[in-house]
Amino acid sequence: MPFKRTVYDRAIYQEPGPSLDRDNPFQSMRERFDVAAEILELDPGFYEYLLTPARIHITAVPVVMDDGRIKLFEGIRVIHNEILGPSKGGIRYAPDVTLDEVKALAAWMTWKCAIVGVPFGGAKGGVICNPREMSPGELERLTRRYTANLLDVFGPDRDIPAPDMNTNEQIMAWILDTYSMHAKRTENAVVTGKPIMLGGSEGRKEATGRGVMTVTLSAMDRLGLRAAQCSVAVQGFGNVGSIAALLLAEQGCKIVAVSDVTGGYYNENGLDVQAMIDYAEANNRTLDGYQNAQKISNEELLTLDVDILVPAAKEDQITRHVAPDVKAKIIAEGANGPTTPAADAILKDNGVLVVPDILANAGGVTVSYFEWVQDRQGYFWSLDRVNRRLDRLIRNAFDKVYDEAEKYDVSMRIGAYVLAIDKVASALRLRGIYA
Ligand code: NAD
Repeated sequence: MPFKRTVYDRAIYQEPGPSLDRDNPFQSMRERFDVAAEILELDPGFYEYLLTPARIHITAVPVVMDDGRIKLFEGIRVIHNEILGPSKGGIRYAPDVTLDEVKALAAWMTWKCAIVGVPFGGAKGGVICNPREMSPGELERLTRRYTANLLDVFGPDRDIPAPDMNTNEQIMAWILDTYSMHAKRTENAVVTGKPIMLGGSEGRKEATGRGVMTVTLSAMDRLGLRAAQCSVAVQGFGNVGSIAALLLAEQGCKIVAVSDVTGGYYNENGLDVQAMIDYAEANNRTLDGYQNAQKISNEELLTLDVDILVPAAKEDQITRHVAPDVKAKIIAEGANGPTTPAADAILKDNGVLVVPDILANAGGVTVSYFEWVQDRQGYFWSLDRVNRRLDRLIRNAFDKVYDEAEKYDVSMRIGAYVLAIDKVASALRLRGIYA
């Protein structure tokens, strides 16, 4: 029976209201999923199965703080789906992490892996904490206890974490060590995004920004734009944003604006991205006080008269209030979920080509897959080989998503969901339902 809107859709199709600007992220994902499911005439049973997380783990993480007090944190790990392989996804440390956010991010991982064609399912983790207020020792104890609580969940053949917001190589090294101590052998394939010395991959740190650069060049090709003609604004100057800006500048684009939590920095003649990276590195990772640029607001950055906009900070930045004023021809979503569903419709009407997050930022999980393959082979590739393979996979994925969007006359975002859901549903059909 084809997919039909039923009782569980009632919550999805609300009248647009203020809540849609700071959406429940799982609901945002589900709205796009719904449109794709309808195009695919997805069986209602498959619909429910593919939307529902396979498992949700919520665990109390007690930590002895530096002052001797015991503080309790909440740890989450959501396994969305394992149909295509072991589940894969980052761990986020932030005070405002919610279960719905982690559920959405886990589902996005499933779709991302399917789009680029790596044999993983999707997962995501989070710990509700404020890492900026914690000492390195407290963070280490938090990470080790979270890992110990999830020993039966993690594993190179089961569920493989990676860094996400506020987690990094060092935190991955602690996860690797804790898991390995219990396994009584060194299991470096249990996490990705770890230091190269511990089995990390060349190019992993730059992979997401590099993927953003690759999809942007592909989108420019489709619109007949040349890099040397294009101006770019990048929101967020962390791992993804700074590398995307640097690589796009290397391709000949003019980066006229970047921003971080301290605001936007604009120079119509082009910014020196490498100098800004060096500045941020020496300045507690922020651009606060950077000269050679005019200070602008976050909203001004999003609506600048540029050819390309790269949101690479956080969710829900391009809302229905901002979307009508966006002048960029291409938006390449480095961040997860930066555009709300209501803004999507406005951008489509205005002819903006949006390269969706589940394609544009899939470079990270692609090189995470390369890292896992290298760990399991015990044979490590050169940076050149990693980058060539990454570029090929991302370019192919872009073309497939673009074709899918043309075939159904939908946005690239819906095209990406159609491609991903179709792939996971086809694999599910082959595997069948175990009874
Ligand atoms: P990060 O912590 O390294 O950087 C985030 C940047 O955004 C910082 O410069 C911060 O100052 C800035 N920022 C925060 N709030 C802002 C605001 N309101 N306005 C402007 N700038 C703001 O994080 P990251 O790893 O670069 O991740 C950024 C986004 O990309 C997240 O949505 C993440 O989920 C997504 N992502 C990251 C990876 C990865 O490999 N790192 C992979 C896929 C997706």
